[in-house]
Amino acid sequence: MISMTHHYFVTEFVPEFNDLERELPVIRDDRKVSSYIRMEQKRGLIGIYEKENPNSVWHDHCPWDHENWLFDAGYDRVMPWLEESLNRMPIFADLGIQRAVHGAISHPPDGNPLIGPAPGVRNYWCCCGTQIGTGWGPGLSRELARWMVHGAADISMRDYDPRRFGSYAKKEWQVIKAKEDYCLRHEIPYPLFNRLAGRPVKPSPLYDLLKSKGAVHEEVYGFERPRWFARDGVAQEDHYAFRRTVVHDMVAREVRAVREAVGIMDVTAFTKVMVEGPDAFALLDRLTANRMPQKHPSSSEAVGETRNGGSITLTHMLNRRGRIELETTIVRMAEERFYLVCAAFFEQRLLDHLARHRDGADVTVTALSSGWSALALNGPHARDVLGGVAMRTSAMPVSAGCRRNRSPWRGIGYGPCGCPMPVSWDGNCTCRTPPVWMSTARFGARGRAMILPTTARLR
Ligand SMILES: Cc1cc2nc3c(=O)[nH]c(=O)nc-3n(C[C@H](O)[C@H](O)[C@H](O)COP(=O)(O)OP(=O)(O)OC[C@H]3O[C@@H](n4cnc5c(N)ncnc54)[C@H](O)[C@@H]3O)c2cc1C
Repeated sequence: MISMTHHYFVTEFVPEFNDLERELPVIRDDRKVSSYIRMEQKRGLIGIYEKENPNSVWHDHCPWDHENWLFDAGYDRVMPWLEESLNRMPIFADLGIQRAVHGAISHPPDGNPLIGPAPGVRNYWCCCGTQIGTGWGPGLSRELARWMVHGAADISMRDYDPRRFGSYAKKEWQVIKAKEDYCLRHEIPYPLFNRLAGRPVKPSPLYDLLKSKGAVHEEVYGFERPRWFARDGVAQEDHYAFRRTVVHDMVAREVRAVREAVGIMDVTAFTKVMVEGPDAFALLDRLTANRMPQKHPSSSEAVGETRNGGSITLTHMLNRRGRIELETTIVRMAEERFYLVCAAFFEQRLLDHLARHRDGADVTVTALSSGWSALALNGPHARDVLGGVAMRTSAMPVSAGCRRNRSPWRGIGYGPCGCPMPVSWDGNCTCRTPPVWMSTARFGARGRAMILPTTARLR
């Protein structure tokens, strides 16, 4: 996270406030004013979040002698928004500024605080990155205390878990995202708001291909994941509103394609972890709530859909309170080898959970998320597509998960149903269109994207 400097200004005494019996509500205004305006006893208070040229400090660390440090006011930087604030509250306009406060506030890349276990270490907890720390402090520290004492908080802490960021979150990227977050502070929070700065940071090998086909991407754990596909003259960009937008009709076409034909999706963002070794079954069996996949192939090399179908389970790992720690699909690749797939942002959480509860088990855990790509294929023609493609070309052929997809909806989001391409993330990799993608065209396929599963589930 990065410290951004922020100003608020307190005016002289406001005569109009003198006879007020109640405190005025806080006013927040986005684009033009980008500030909060409130009463400070009988004075006015204006806090500015500049929309341009925000100021970050102390990229390496906060100096020890700078506790509660205040900077000189930078009027030039905030003046456009300060003037707009005075236009909004003319009763302040003729008053002088009695006090200017200019201090540093920490901004994590997505603006949410870092509350919870530190990644990769045991019994080390974070409670920082709180830009509204006075307001957020009581609730967040209560939940942190519950997490520390009882093993889980009472509310979902997913958006605050420090492990939602990975090694892709380099310092330069943090600075870009902190500045973006600062500028968005008073932005209207539209549904599916897409933060675009500093991207792409981890493009999938299909990123350029899908973009050329109209994909509008979202970022998850650094990965670029297609959200929906723009077609027929609809602008390939985010469309914001509190009601339905043109995106609704675009997604409807993807849903129809999956229901009636076949849809293919880049699910490279999913977390992919291999757990193998003599104790692999016992460890996973102990940590998961569902029955482990029982069947296994006669060959230790690969699971093929027809020979070994069914050797896949969707299950949950539970925490000490019996609540869901994470959801994962487990594919039994061989007697002692299991391939785990779960949501992108659960990678570190999964690795930590396995490490914490390993208890000396003889297993090797390998994170594959950044080394493998994956496609998901769904719809009544999914089998026909696969039948036409020679899939046994990579380290792992079509996963057994495909067996679940007899109906267009089952298996959506399960992850491993697809054709993993062993492509390394050197940042320069280009990938020719995978054969399975080309094959879908014959069956009236469409690229499908991330909004679809939720929409289809609701239907
Ligand atoms: C101008 C301005 C206006 C603001 N307005 C608001 C507002 O209206 N509402 C709101 O909710 N918030 C506001 N904030 C933000 C709020 O002040 C912070 O979010 C809050 O103070 C953060 O609290 P904290 O305890 O996380 O961190 P801090 O207050 O920074 O406390 C961290 C403490 O940890 C100590 N420390 C650091 N490292 C170590 C170490 N290694 N060992 C031991 N001790 C260590 C530090 O010395 C410090 O005392 C504002 C901030 C500024 C600058």
